[in-house]
Amino acid sequence: MKRIAVLTSGGDAPGLNAAIRAVVRTASYYNIETIGVKRGFKGLIEKEFEPLTPRSVGGILGRGGTILLTAREPRFKEKEFRQKAVENLKSENIDALFVIGGNGSFQGAYLLSKEFDFPIIGIPKTIDNDTFGTEYTIGFDTAVNNAMEAVDKIRDTGMSHERIFVVEVMGRKSGFIALDVGISSGADITLIPEYPFPLHVIVQKLKKSYESGKKFSIIVVAEGVTSAKTLAEVLEHYLKDEDLGGIRYSVLGYIQRGGSPTAKDRIIASRFGKKAVEYYLEGERDIMVAMENGKITKKPLSITFGKIKKPELEDFELVNILTL
Ligand code: ATP
Repeated sequence: MKRIAVLTSGGDAPGLNAAIRAVVRTASYYNIETIGVKRGFKGLIEKEFEPLTPRSVGGILGRGGTILLTAREPRFKEKEFRQKAVENLKSENIDALFVIGGNGSFQGAYLLSKEFDFPIIGIPKTIDNDTFGTEYTIGFDTAVNNAMEAVDKIRDTGMSHERIFVVEVMGRKSGFIALDVGISSGADITLIPEYPFPLHVIVQKLKKSYESGKKFSIIVVAEGVTSAKTLAEVLEHYLKDEDLGGIRYSVLGYIQRGGSPTAKDRIIASRFGKKAVEYYLEGERDIMVAMENGKITKKPLSITFGKIKKPELEDFELVNILTL
């Protein structure tokens, strides 16, 4: 009987549990045993293994976070610890490692394959959706929905007090979350790192909106552009002579990452997990499952390394066209 191991690595994202469940149950369907590795690569080095069964992954589909826990493990950048990891896998007769992770985790896992000829299958997750080679990463939809709901609430206060609100959302260096939050919450201005939006245009736009009778505005800013605090201070300075109701800011932070995954995240995580096992059974290795034109496909793991994925310019235009 074949045996695979599965781990979650890097930052948590809603939908990880759905992916774990899908891997374990699909593997079982094809008569493969699954071993869960706790705390990502840390657990691989320290041999924190536990068998997972179709029953033991019951009741987790709708839960955020990861039952396997996750960690960042600097030691994995050293070959001696990667060797230890492979020895641990081999000592338990494990034939392949399924890594539910982001770019960094894939780079680490890829080395296990290159250096020790150990098969790797990747499943992409990150709320930031910035993994090159796939249109979608697990967790993104939930993060966007969490942030959109928060902006909807902030809008009530902004509207009532006739104020400008600057809302900072996550995304690291990328603007996928900010852009989708901007579109779905009807933000007046959406700032993302990939496409410039000069300060004088922001100021002009706010003044114009105020003059046209709209006395509150929502600005969504990706953390990769600047902090909400800095932007609010700069705007305060440039708008000090205007009779505006004051500027407030809010940093959404970790609430974006937690909570029950949306239907979309549960479904895509389930599809990714199933397909990952099936690709492995077809003899694939060193690939990740990926979304392309809305369909699940496979891509070499190495496609994700060092490449930058950009949001569509058309979406950036959309968010600007739809504001007053
Ligand atoms: P996230 O999207 O949450 O950042 P990620 O997988 O990109 O997910 P990282 O923190 O970049 O998260 O990487 C997770 C772990 O992968 C690291 O803690 C480290 O153990 C391992 N790793 C990352 N980069 C490398 C590398 N170049 N070589 C070996 N291991 C690496």
